[in-house]
Amino acid sequence: MKSATMDSESQNLRQKAEALQKMKPSHADSSLSAIETAKLIHELEVHQIELELQNKELILARSSVQELAERYTELYDLAPSGYFTLSMEGEILNLNLCGAQFLGKERSQLTGSRFDLFISVDTRPIFNLFLDKVFQTKSKETCEVKLISNGDCPTHVLLTGISTENLEQCNVTMVDISERKRAEEAEQESKDFLDKIINSVASPIFVKDVQHRFCLVNDPLCSLLNLPVEKLIGTTGYEYIPEEQMKVFIAKDQEVFITGKENINEEKLTDGTGKIQNIVTQKALYTDPKGNKFLVGVINDITEIRKKEIELITAKEHAEECDRLKSAFLCNMSHEIRTPMNGILGFAELLKEPGLNGEDQQEYIRIIEKSGNRMLNIINDIVDISKIEAGLMNLNVTESNINEQIEYIYTFFKPEVETKGMKLSFRNALPAKEAIIKTDREKLYAILTNLVKNAIKYCKEGAIELGYERKGKDIEFFVKDTGIGIPKERQGAIFERFIQADIVDVQARQGAGLGLAISQSFVEMLGGEIWVESEEGIGSTFYFTLPYNTEPVKETLDQQLATSVKIDNVSKLKILIAEDDDVSEMLIAINIKEFGKEILKARTGVEAVEACRNNPDINLVLMDIRMPEMGGYEATRQIREFDKNVVIIAQTAYGLIGDREKAIEAGCNDYIAKPIGKAELLALIQKYFKK
Ligand code: ADP
Repeated sequence: MKSATMDSESQNLRQKAEALQKMKPSHADSSLSAIETAKLIHELEVHQIELELQNKELILARSSVQELAERYTELYDLAPSGYFTLSMEGEILNLNLCGAQFLGKERSQLTGSRFDLFISVDTRPIFNLFLDKVFQTKSKETCEVKLISNGDCPTHVLLTGISTENLEQCNVTMVDISERKRAEEAEQESKDFLDKIINSVASPIFVKDVQHRFCLVNDPLCSLLNLPVEKLIGTTGYEYIPEEQMKVFIAKDQEVFITGKENINEEKLTDGTGKIQNIVTQKALYTDPKGNKFLVGVINDITEIRKKEIELITAKEHAEECDRLKSAFLCNMSHEIRTPMNGILGFAELLKEPGLNGEDQQEYIRIIEKSGNRMLNIINDIVDISKIEAGLMNLNVTESNINEQIEYIYTFFKPEVETKGMKLSFRNALPAKEAIIKTDREKLYAILTNLVKNAIKYCKEGAIELGYERKGKDIEFFVKDTGIGIPKERQGAIFERFIQADIVDVQARQGAGLGLAISQSFVEMLGGEIWVESEEGIGSTFYFTLPYNTEPVKETLDQQLATSVKIDNVSKLKILIAEDDDVSEMLIAINIKEFGKEILKARTGVEAVEACRNNPDINLVLMDIRMPEMGGYEATRQIREFDKNVVIIAQTAYGLIGDREKAIEAGCNDYIAKPIGKAELLALIQKYFKK
């Protein structure tokens, strides 16, 4: 239709040009020739034609623009997305039909409204930020917001905005993403549900891809590895474990990927802090619907179980060892007690024989005495070790003159050593004033006694030396012998309880095997160490240290008394024996006969107090602890009220560590354990009544 119009118009123009050509010039002298006129006319005509053509095209263009605009508006309204033109203040200037539908109102009602009022309050800040950015950046911005719920309107929309050229308006498209959001939420819900389930499983769980990277881990796995989930997902986690463990894991994972067969392995795993754990891992293959392969692992942490197992095995071994040692100990103990018992009973029987000569009689008595001592030692050791084991052994730290103690032990054991044809000597390294340390005197005495007794026991000839040296902050005591020595491999074991019971030559030596164990406990209680240096056939030296604790020397009651009693000769002592048992009293009386000037006797504590009150010249009281009416400790307390000088030595039947402390506390100067040996009593009398 358009081209038909054009044809008729052109025809029109042609006709006009022909008419012009037929026209003659009006004046013959005209300067323009007819050709030139014709040419001009022609040009005019062409120009006109062109103008008309252009006009025509303009009209045509206008109509097509109109057509396009109509089509655009049609499309604009029919589009499934909302289109909005917003002012800088967020006012809706224009919108399409879909936009109005999304907001749930008529288009006419919406123009001029504030856009943000249709956005849910919780996502409104997101929208405000978005709008600011759209106007500030000129670039395309997006955001996801929720619309205020309104019937069938979308709940979630995606906004894309860009400002117009003059920056005073912006165009915003709105796409309904409710469906996608719902799907995402549903997916998230099922993921959360799955997460909750795998996290509520107590065992660590993981899923790895074929590159051995973690795709999924649960909380217990993170705890086991001591690593946060972010450090694991997407990585192999191998950088956190030692290479040898990594190789094992890779090999086992590969096995599952290649064979498709499940495997269960006990492995060691070092966690993020370097702690080694024992685990059992069950690994299986999972192939997803797309054919991707994954390794699913479940771990059981058996560290505690293994630890408990080891503890149980150790405890069982220990119990068996204890059982074995205790049986051996009982066996040995039975032997140790029976042997002296046989000696005592057998030789006591023999003593009854009529016509026994004096020499035999003495020999039998000597054997009875030796056997009795041996039994007493065993009983003392058993009591001590029981107290140590029960944790009842207490310390009584006082000032002790170590020179005096060494000298005392020397005096006490000298006769016995010399009887064996050996030499006993001592070496005190410090002058008397510096030889006073703070320690438990009784325990030090017990340790030295044990070591010297052993030296005598395990030495047939040669010499025994005891003494000490100052070594920095310690005093190092030693007891050296030239005896049988101890094989290297047994040198550690000899300090263990009952250990003698465990050795083959048990018959050869006497002893319950407790002495060194007791000594070691005492040394450790006193803050020192004990050890032995020994060579078989050459001899042994036992060393132990005690802290060199010195304090300003205060004169003790012992010292006051020791210096106050000055007698020329021990045989001049006036002695009170406080003892209710006839046999014991007789024994003491015989033992002290040679250095007693006058011997008084009391059978109760009350009598002892009375005797002291009536005889202020008594030098020594041998006070039994258990007496009728009044015990020895109470009697001592009462005597001390009126006589501070008399030397009171408590005699107890138990021989327990701690007796000395109790006696001193009551006011006694010392204590002696029953049965009272002559040598021990003599050593004590010499200690207190030396000229
Ligand atoms: P026992 O009562 O058997 O002497 P100990 O605990 O005192 O118990 O000693 C344990 C073991 O150590 C002894 O049985 C002996 O084998 C060894 N022993 C201790 N002292 C010496 C020593 N001076 N010389 C050689 N062996 C010794």
